[in-house]
Amino acid sequence: MRKVYLDNNATTQLHPEALDAMLPYLKDSYGNPSSIHQFGREVWGDIVDARASVANLLGCDTSEIYFTSGGTEADNIAVIGTAYANADKGKHVITSSIEHHAVLESCHYLEKNGFEVTYLPVDEDGCVNPDDLKKAIRKDTILVSIMHINNETGSIQDIKTMASIAKDAGVYFHTDAVQSAGKEPVNVGALGIDLLAASAHKINGPKGSGLIYIRKGTKVEPRMYGGHHESGMRAGTENVAGIIGLSKALEISCANMETEYHRYTDLTSKLWNGITSQVDDVVLNGCKCGNRRFPNTLNISFKGIEGEAIILNLDIIGIGVASGSACSSGSTDPSHVLLAMGVESWVARGSLRISFGKFTTEEDIDYVIEQVPPVVERLRKMSPVYNR
Ligand SMILES: *Cc1c(COP(=O)(O)O)cnc(C)c1O
Repeated sequence: MRKVYLDNNATTQLHPEALDAMLPYLKDSYGNPSSIHQFGREVWGDIVDARASVANLLGCDTSEIYFTSGGTEADNIAVIGTAYANADKGKHVITSSIEHHAVLESCHYLEKNGFEVTYLPVDEDGCVNPDDLKKAIRKDTILVSIMHINNETGSIQDIKTMASIAKDAGVYFHTDAVQSAGKEPVNVGALGIDLLAASAHKINGPKGSGLIYIRKGTKVEPRMYGGHHESGMRAGTENVAGIIGLSKALEISCANMETEYHRYTDLTSKLWNGITSQVDDVVLNGCKCGNRRFPNTLNISFKGIEGEAIILNLDIIGIGVASGSACSSGSTDPSHVLLAMGVESWVARGSLRISFGKFTTEEDIDYVIEQVPPVVERLRKMSPVYNR
């Protein structure tokens, strides 16, 4: 049976070159980077190089990059660490209603600990209006956290404008760039941000490896205590292979960014046209014109059927796609992102997230275009709520 993986916003296949770069650290180069003997020094030097490469690609200083266990940890440090370190100035944080759970749950934790959080709404494209941010900033606001590209719909936020609004108000700005770093130009200086979270496994790197950029001078409390690793910001012996894999994956994805963007754009329109030419009542959840949507993601609803039902039926024929976000699988609640965009609950329940990656081919898309329409037709025939 053909296998087609189209859930690249959940995770991606490890790039063979990233694997090759990592292998020595899982075999012979096993020294602890903190050790002063040659076993350690050699590995330390390679981490220094990886940090320099990552810093160069993000446009910052090497001292501003801290390696973490992934995007979730980076978001936790950014939201909770920054809030705690600046609580003397105020206890108000602003975020959006479409954030990943790594940010949302960090905000809920803050709310349980005496902070107040404002969740900005989004429009039907899934974008925050910068004017809403301007209006929400108060005297006691200490942090704004708005994601760059949304993992469920691909909606792209106007980070540059919002970071500048925060800066004018003297408020720190964090962005969850897990879905954008390596796919869309992310230069921390050009964007004007203070904190950024990125993850390796969303760009063909290894799972359990990520980073946080913290602009020099930004007050942030660590969330992990122990040794002096990562300049005291993140204690714990370095995940050496993970760090090397992250830097390799970021190098490869940045080098191919533009080609991939155009390839995704062609694949998306091929898929959308291929499906809608055969199936009625398909809704695109997100920016219809595509200007504010990253083209590797297509979030669509087939009216009258549950997303889960389609996913299970596609799974049987080898196609892997998601409904809502991977984190909420197992729950049939409609996605908080789609609801925030004003998508009706019953349409949101029928949503399917198809996300392309580096190894997605045109043949994969052909297979989906061929297989999806009959599945939808069959499910609709059984649907109590769908009548033609
Ligand atoms: C996957 C993801 C995360 C979490 O990153 P991990 O490395 O899996 O912890 C955070 N934010 C977004 C937008 C994501 O897509």
